[in-house]
Amino acid sequence: MKKFKELAEVLEKVEKFTERSVKVSFLSIFLKDLEPEELEKTIWLILGNIGREWEENKMNVSFGTLVQLFKKLNINRKEFIDLYKKLGDPADALKIILEKNKQKQQRLFKKEYTILEVFNILKSLEKIEGEGSRDKKVNILYSLYINLSPIEAKLITRILQGDMRYGVSEGLLEETLSHAFSIPLEDIQRAHMLLGDLGLVAKYIKEKGYEYIKNIKIELFNPVKPMLAEKAENIREVIDTLGLAAYEFKFDGIRAQIHKKGNVVRIFTRRLKEVTNSFPDIIKLILDNINADEVVLEGEIVGWDYKSNKPLPFQELVKRIKRKHEREKYIKEIPVRLFLFDILYLNGEMLIDKTFIERRKILESIKGNIDLTPMIISNNYEEIERFFNESVNMGNEGLVAKELNSKYIPGKRGKRWLKLKKTMEPLDLVIIGAEWGHGRRKKFLSDLYLAVRDEKTGKFYMVTKTFKGLSDKEYEELTKELLKLKIKEEGRIVWVKPKIVVEVLYDEIQKSPKYECGYALRFARVNRIRWDKSEKDVDTLQRLIELYKKQNKNL
Ligand code: AMP
Repeated sequence: MKKFKELAEVLEKVEKFTERSVKVSFLSIFLKDLEPEELEKTIWLILGNIGREWEENKMNVSFGTLVQLFKKLNINRKEFIDLYKKLGDPADALKIILEKNKQKQQRLFKKEYTILEVFNILKSLEKIEGEGSRDKKVNILYSLYINLSPIEAKLITRILQGDMRYGVSEGLLEETLSHAFSIPLEDIQRAHMLLGDLGLVAKYIKEKGYEYIKNIKIELFNPVKPMLAEKAENIREVIDTLGLAAYEFKFDGIRAQIHKKGNVVRIFTRRLKEVTNSFPDIIKLILDNINADEVVLEGEIVGWDYKSNKPLPFQELVKRIKRKHEREKYIKEIPVRLFLFDILYLNGEMLIDKTFIERRKILESIKGNIDLTPMIISNNYEEIERFFNESVNMGNEGLVAKELNSKYIPGKRGKRWLKLKKTMEPLDLVIIGAEWGHGRRKKFLSDLYLAVRDEKTGKFYMVTKTFKGLSDKEYEELTKELLKLKIKEEGRIVWVKPKIVVEVLYDEIQKSPKYECGYALRFARVNRIRWDKSEKDVDTLQRLIELYKKQNKNL
């Protein structure tokens, strides 16, 4: 059994090196010799988990608990806070203080924990609930921490915070396993997608060997990483890419992967989080209808207003998941509907290598009275457009187009599924600067810096940069006008007085550290120049934030 300290040491080394191959080699030497269970749990810990990737972390050790713990450990509060502010990581701060203190007070005896012992202690925190639980947790952690070396304390602090920072991603660990056990990377990746947890994959490699991994099957109640859709610009692009294809309503709800075995039903989201307890009505629906003993289904759970027979806004639906203490209330208040669209497994048989059309037929045969997503099969532009409008008018996001002969490819975003979304409401932004273009556009200011206005201070905040959308002639005219407004020139950039307003289309509003206001538009393009508007008409930062909240519903 390996010591926890050895794991901390190897991660320290891995953190120092940026080169991928070096990280892989350090880690694989370490992981190679672990026993199956030890290996599984080590992978979990390295990823900052204390269970399967999809299991919720229930240790609930808040920053406040850590501060209380550090106090008990006689860590000087001011010193800790100052270092934390400087380094940006409480675990690094703690490590440095412990290293310093260690020189002062050499301890004679220290218990050395194994990886599994530490794992079990952390796991035991999950069971502590209710009154006085913070004190109990602090006591447990205290007896652990007093025996730890600085780098071990750092590692555990990072695990408790769920913020690992050693530079080890799931992808890097997949490579490491491939390297350590001489298994092709594709086989590891496929097993990871199908089992939904890399720790389990590693355990099986050790326990059952390569052949088992190579022929890995879906296991009931281990969620599969879902197949994802790539974005398409417009209907024409989809027809050109897929030809005759299936088009389904794209509902704005929660992706639900539903596993059923006999009377047991569990539901997982797109991120593989379990949400079974939030949907007793869906569980009942499945049990009452699905005509199969063992099955893995996929569909979308949508909040539903039965009066208007339309979907409820997504924010309503998430209350069921987020507001745990009021769950019962929201289960009553927010009715839902399920639309199924795929089947991955049926009575011992994995169906993911069957075509979309075959899977849909099987789904049809076992669904009972449950709805499937409305679907058409078409390559006719007008027909697809009508269907798209029907979906959007109902309050949905648009359509998902699916290649008729495509397999189900877990965890992949590819061109076999294409999503057609209604576009976001355009924003009026002001030009605050522009870069000289390249090539054909060398003489034009064509890369535009665009900003929103802060309602409170009147200050302009840049939220995107784009050279897309206008014709050369429009850029020519715009360049003339911009040069009249020039404030200063910095290299290729000309900064201008904020006067000229453009209407901008975009795909998404994102949080972004790149811009001072913290938000950015994704894939922005200019729709038209609004000569009729002034900088006073520009959309506000407050409006942008509102739109961000409205749009940002993917859990
Ligand atoms: P996006 O979140 O924009 O990447 O779109 C993919 C998501 O659309 C999926 O994860 C599902 O939750 C959702 N969705 C809604 N309707 C469908 C459908 N008919 N087929 C597949 N996914 C759908």
